[in-house]
Amino acid sequence: MRIGRAAGVTDTGRRRLRNEDAFVCEPPLFAVADGMGGARAGETAARLAAAALEESGRGAEGEDALVALIVEANRRIWEQALADPSKAGMGTTVTAALVDSRAGTIAIGHVGDSRAYRVRDGVLEQLTTDHFLVAELVSSGVLTQEEAERHPQRSAITRALGTEPTVDVEAFTVEGSPGDLFLICSDGLPTMVSDEQVAAAILTADGDPSAAAEALVAAANARGGEDNVTVVLFELEEGDEPDEPAPVEPAAEPAIEAEPAVEDAVAEEAPVDDVRTHGAGAGGRLPALLFVAAIVVVAVLALYWGLGR
Ligand code: MN
Repeated sequence: MRIGRAAGVTDTGRRRLRNEDAFVCEPPLFAVADGMGGARAGETAARLAAAALEESGRGAEGEDALVALIVEANRRIWEQALADPSKAGMGTTVTAALVDSRAGTIAIGHVGDSRAYRVRDGVLEQLTTDHFLVAELVSSGVLTQEEAERHPQRSAITRALGTEPTVDVEAFTVEGSPGDLFLICSDGLPTMVSDEQVAAAILTADGDPSAAAEALVAAANARGGEDNVTVVLFELEEGDEPDEPAPVEPAAEPAIEAEPAVEDAVAEEAPVDDVRTHGAGAGGRLPALLFVAAIVVVAVLALYWGLGR
């Protein structure tokens, strides 16, 4: 078994001004984070979570490693919140999947109400249980299911990343087989789109993760798009993972980005975001150099010609 195609899409939706969701789609690690907290704190929390997972996730394997990644993400958000009073109380959900191709298993770790599903033979199966306050009140007999559905705090979650110095991560491992499609999403999908509609959209996309991701986001928006919506999908297929790819060398990137800095006047005109494009465009000086060289050659030939007479 190996990981096939994968795709991630995030969208602000139709009601919210900002997108406080973030995602990771870096095989074998996939995750969705849904931030909360005012003054852009939710955005910060979700992005910190995604960045922490992405950064320390390379080479991670297994359920314990996944839990450790999430605990580390929690620590970083908590520390950031302590350091910056404007971010006090920020938090985020996280639902992450780490695929172990050799073992044919997928470790799932989650905190909050972002979900993981597995689609097998066209059947959608929810793997995670939301950490809803009302769900816990129902299971402890305080509320009935019906009361829970109308409860004013029905979307309140009992666990989040970054709101406490430590976090209780729910984790488990499921087996995967070729043909399986895994879906991780923020609550903006299930609150807008029923499980049947999610399954139908994936079926229509014929299992193609990119097409399915676009279809699911479109479906959430078509039904109101009241929240940010984020979906990450990956498929499992027959075969073995190729041998370890050559590690990406992070050192190469700063070197390229540093180059335009010495490129005086031209570099100053370029907005910061364009620095890399600009660096890549350093070859743009080549035609000018060739032109100068051509003039020199012509001048030298003219000189010889003139002296020869
Ligand atoms: Mn949400």
